[in-house]
Amino acid sequence: MTTMELFPEVQGFLAEQKRLFIGGEWVEPAAGEYFNVENPATTLNIASVSKATAADVDHAVQAARQALEGEWQHVSPAQRTKLMLRLADLIEEDAENLGQIISLENGKPYSNAKNGEVVVTANVIRYFAGWPSKIEGSTIPVSPRTGERMLNYTVKEPVGVCALIVPWNFPLSMCAWKLGPALATGCTSILKPAEQTPLSALRLAYLIEKAGIPRGVVNVLTGFGEGAGAPLAAHPGVDKIAFTGSTGVGRLIAQSAVSNMKKVSLELGGKSPNIILPDADIIKAAKGAADGIFYNQGQVCTAASRLYVHESVLDQTLEELRKHAAAHVVGPGLNEQTTMGPLVSSAQFDVVKGYVDSAVSEGAELICGGGKPSELGDGYFMSPTVFLDKQEQARVAREEIFGPVVTVMSWSDVDELVHRANDTPFGLAAGLWTNDLTQAHTIASRIKAGSVWINCWNVVDPASPFGGYKQSGWGREMGKNVIDAYTETKSVFVNLG
Ligand code: NAD
Repeated sequence: MTTMELFPEVQGFLAEQKRLFIGGEWVEPAAGEYFNVENPATTLNIASVSKATAADVDHAVQAARQALEGEWQHVSPAQRTKLMLRLADLIEEDAENLGQIISLENGKPYSNAKNGEVVVTANVIRYFAGWPSKIEGSTIPVSPRTGERMLNYTVKEPVGVCALIVPWNFPLSMCAWKLGPALATGCTSILKPAEQTPLSALRLAYLIEKAGIPRGVVNVLTGFGEGAGAPLAAHPGVDKIAFTGSTGVGRLIAQSAVSNMKKVSLELGGKSPNIILPDADIIKAAKGAADGIFYNQGQVCTAASRLYVHESVLDQTLEELRKHAAAHVVGPGLNEQTTMGPLVSSAQFDVVKGYVDSAVSEGAELICGGGKPSELGDGYFMSPTVFLDKQEQARVAREEIFGPVVTVMSWSDVDELVHRANDTPFGLAAGLWTNDLTQAHTIASRIKAGSVWINCWNVVDPASPFGGYKQSGWGREMGKNVIDAYTETKSVFVNLG
């Protein structure tokens, strides 16, 4: 395998001791502590990063408040657009460096990072850059009981200081999903990346500074969930929390938001059903099913982890899935041939391996994969894995795994299928593979999920809302409705009498 050399810019970036980005300054952490970031493909440390604590949270919230009530409120909508477009351009210009940084800390293949995640990040910022001049209120024809003439209008104002807490699976684009609407609406932010992947967010902070976004508008705190995330979520100076991550932590965040009634949006886990109907093009459907689960090593909240295949096409689908799994080249993300990198961490590897190891004793049949490829040395590598579980009893069929593991189930009756597809605490995404328009739209209307993909998977667009039913979250990100999540609406009555 050919391994890429690190770009000189990336080498320099990794070698620097990483500080916190607060109020436009790069500052030492208050407690003077640092932690190491590991390359999951080698298990070697690649950088040393500041460990933020409650004192740094306080400092960052103050800086964000000062920016909100100071310079930032006087920056015109057109100027906000310009700054955001400049940031999107800088992200694109830095795509190669960002691609290596993402691949190094997260494990994903360099090409997926550079041509996928970085491109999405720039596109999301660019989409939201169009919004500042379009955030309008309305005039409302009110009917006062007194008969007086009244003018009533509404104004949308920034919700305030936002805590943006993001996970490790898309360490750069998850920042953009939240920073995009925050910047567009005139909010200020404290961004807390995951402890496994803080480097992409720090590189983004450097680009934010370079774009000329005023001091304190975006602050970046690297650190751990309990030490930095929890005090941020609980801080009385924070007005809104936008969180992506596990359902368990989502619950804790919702609880800490209650103290000062912070606005909260949550994007949590999933166990998404992907359904193949008997009339589908099986070659395309199986390819879509494989991409839906193996992309990003299966570490995607919308991973197509439950595959319901009509019994008449089960054997053919399994055969196709086996071929797609075998075609993957598992290896370090910076090897040019790699199509599937390692899992993000030792802890994540143990979780995935635990599910895989227990599946057969719980009644599932292993079709392929099931462990670390024997030829690979250190690193948290896991083969693309397919189980068949006709009884739908094993935990691999029911619980979120967050790894490249799909469980195939067969079905014969549509009503029963819909019941089984919805029989989960989650409701993030679902897929249908069919050429029968009536069935496609009928089943789509009966599935309880925030995104339904017909003859495709993982199509996400900044103009279209994304989020979950049930325990997959609160609210929607992206699209025009997310503007409401980052604004307060003020209703003004003027007595014209
Ligand atoms: P997590 O929920 O623990 O972490 C996500 C973010 O929340 C990180 O920045 C983390 O530091 C922070 N955090 C953790 N505890 C916190 C607390 N008490 N208060 C405030 N912030 C806190 O997720 P994880 O441990 O990285 O992964 C565990 C599971 O989460 C995965 O196996 C997967 O099921 C799920 N997950 C889902 C998504 C998604 O996109 N929906 C992404 C990553 C992980």
